[in-house]
Amino acid sequence: MTASDDTTGPRAPSTRLIASATRKGQGRRPVNPPVERASTMLSDRARDLRDATLGPTYGIEDLTAGRALAAALADLEGATDVWLTPSGLAGMTLPIMAVLKPGDQVVCSDAAYGPTRRFLTGHMARWGVQTVFHPAEADAEAILALTTPTTRLVILEAPASLTFEMVDIPAMAAACRARGVMTLMDNTWASGLAFQPLTHGVDISAQALTKYVSGHSDVVAGSTAVRDPALAKQIGDCHELYGWRLAPDEAWLALRGLRTLPLRYEAQARAALQVAKWLQDRPEVSDVLFPPLPDSVGHDLWKRDFTGAAALFGVVMKGGSTTAAHAFLDALELFGLGYSWGGFESLATHETPQLAYRRHPPKLSGELLRFHIGLEAPEDLIADLAQGLGAWRAAL
Ligand SMILES: *Cc1c(COP(=O)(O)O)cnc(C)c1O
Repeated sequence: MTASDDTTGPRAPSTRLIASATRKGQGRRPVNPPVERASTMLSDRARDLRDATLGPTYGIEDLTAGRALAAALADLEGATDVWLTPSGLAGMTLPIMAVLKPGDQVVCSDAAYGPTRRFLTGHMARWGVQTVFHPAEADAEAILALTTPTTRLVILEAPASLTFEMVDIPAMAAACRARGVMTLMDNTWASGLAFQPLTHGVDISAQALTKYVSGHSDVVAGSTAVRDPALAKQIGDCHELYGWRLAPDEAWLALRGLRTLPLRYEAQARAALQVAKWLQDRPEVSDVLFPPLPDSVGHDLWKRDFTGAAALFGVVMKGGSTTAAHAFLDALELFGLGYSWGGFESLATHETPQLAYRRHPPKLSGELLRFHIGLEAPEDLIADLAQGLGAWRAAL
């Protein structure tokens, strides 16, 4: 738990993220904090053993790199308190466990990140917390109609996983607050950069630092951010009680990634838009699910509320089969086949099988693929996709 430091202000995020490293008054030191690997923290005197004002008393707390990372994230998200978690999933499950009790109900999008859904149905249900899943395309009014007097938490994700539907977040946050219902948003797609849930009235913002913040496909980490003191106490206590922490090496790498987040995010979004537009015009493609595209699902809300985009989108093919989808992906030379995203490399996955887990599966006109666009030249990626589509056609 770390209070936002004095880097908060009207400067651009790219400036603030770097200014937090170069800030004066810290004495002679390296630009980057050291990686401190520690369980035991030594004190000089017995009476100092319990004095938390002298710094962490045990390695389960955030050490220097973790504290710097949490402070920078707090600044980015407009939060007062940020907790680091061992995964992005834990960044979501921490607040879910902290605020719910048996008998409570949760309302969540059917298109929420799969493991978050599984946590709700597979774990929270066992502890007497029921979840109602709303169709991914439901608007704020339809979602609110599902809330009951026992609804304690609404889980938001925009754009949603795999199918990229948007929700009117400010409207949902305001309506939920008026009913005494808490809101938690998975902010991974916006990376704390393109959207700040807390400044739009959401109570809790969580993200997978695994993705863009780390940015190099070499870290698994998460964060949970709030600005309400009572909520901060509740989540902080839960974080401590569960014994969670982010390892110092992971915190250090995530902090290193964070310094260049705005640059990578923007460059990859530009390339993604170019590739997505090209795909949109292919005869083999039915729809590109990418809110920055004017005729994509969620475009109007994205344009109103977001200042940028992750380079992650869905592609609905015209018909096809698993065989054709696999032929397409197997033919690609520049796209790695693998999960996660937000790294420097382009990735592709076949997502049709994932839709079977939904309560309200979308009716798509063909196979669903997901692409993440990395820092390669978009022209090269397009040429690769063109030859991949040749393999798709040959496999039909
Ligand atoms: C990847 C991801 C997560 C979980 O992150 P992990 O670090 O892999 O646990 C949560 N939400 C979204 C939207 C994600 O894409």
